[in-house]
Amino acid sequence: MSLAFEVVARDGAARTGRMALSHGAIETPVFMPVGTYGTVKAMAPDELIDLGAQIILGNTFHLWLRPGLDVIAAHHGLHRFMGWALPLLTDSGGFQVFSLGKLRKVSEDGVRFASPVDGDRLLLTPEESMRIQHVLNADIAMVFDECTPYQIEDRSVTHDEAAISMLLSLRWAQRSASEFSRLGSSNNLFGIVQGGMFESLRDESLARLSDMKFEGYAIGGLSVGEPKEEMLRILTHTAPQMPYEKPRYLMGVGTPEDLIEAIGVGIDMFDCVLPTRNARNGWLFTRYGDLKLRNSRYIADTAPPDETCACPTCRSFTRAYLHHLQRVNEILGARLNTIHNLHYYLNLMRQARDAIVTQRYTQFRAEFARDRGRGV
Ligand SMILES: [Zn+2]
Repeated sequence: MSLAFEVVARDGAARTGRMALSHGAIETPVFMPVGTYGTVKAMAPDELIDLGAQIILGNTFHLWLRPGLDVIAAHHGLHRFMGWALPLLTDSGGFQVFSLGKLRKVSEDGVRFASPVDGDRLLLTPEESMRIQHVLNADIAMVFDECTPYQIEDRSVTHDEAAISMLLSLRWAQRSASEFSRLGSSNNLFGIVQGGMFESLRDESLARLSDMKFEGYAIGGLSVGEPKEEMLRILTHTAPQMPYEKPRYLMGVGTPEDLIEAIGVGIDMFDCVLPTRNARNGWLFTRYGDLKLRNSRYIADTAPPDETCACPTCRSFTRAYLHHLQRVNEILGARLNTIHNLHYYLNLMRQARDAIVTQRYTQFRAEFARDRGRGV
């Protein structure tokens, strides 16, 4: 294991830190753009670096199915395959498998499912996930877990159901750790806290994962359809109890408001498809709120998307032009919108880090909320 993490400054529960990985050092809190199929959609690697991306995420499940491991092994891993020289994190494939809904069958061994690409019967186990991630060779790998849903059919998951799921994830975490160790990887493995919407189950999951000594700890199973207050309740309860000296990663969350809240309770790492996916749908995140480009009020608006934004899109293009590109479905629109949204998220993390170092996170948070509520 080669991860060195150090908390550099704290302001309340918020903290800023530095993580040394084999492909470089990153500063936290950090947002990781999502590169599902070995690409952050519409962005070339040098563009991501220019925007200040320090680490990006690859999806194990999708890369396993296409192009498959032989192709990636021939490139000695995902870094060279996708031309990305900075740190990478891969998820375990668990979340995507569970998203298949009724098309999958969970057993103690793992998850059986039909490939959404060609219908082949496949089995994903903790061991298989570790072997796939070993080939992908990202700086950070994640244990294979079961993402406990918020609802089954039309009702909330019960305490007993969440407990059974959480205990299965613990056994899979142990199997993941054993296989990861057997493979002799020099990368880092993170554990994932589950337990649904139940504080006591989250506590048990965290305590037993902590005993397994992972290089970092993630909170999984949030932002899976629960009301915002439920997410904040579990986040606020769990985050401050996670090992202080290890990175804390909130998986798959969320809006700018979610990130600012989570940093306030001590989260260090985030990933989410929101900035990139919404960009392609013409939804921009700005300092003064969200801007939906399809709205006809922008048809002749000669202002930039965000007057205070220093990104290449805001420096050169108007709302009217981006509205037009969205309406005629031009590919440049997706690119320019993605550049702006990623700049917004990455810049928000820079501002948060600065605010923590200078001991004004509370003030920064209040200004952020005031500005976002003003409206574009
Ligand atoms: Zn911009």
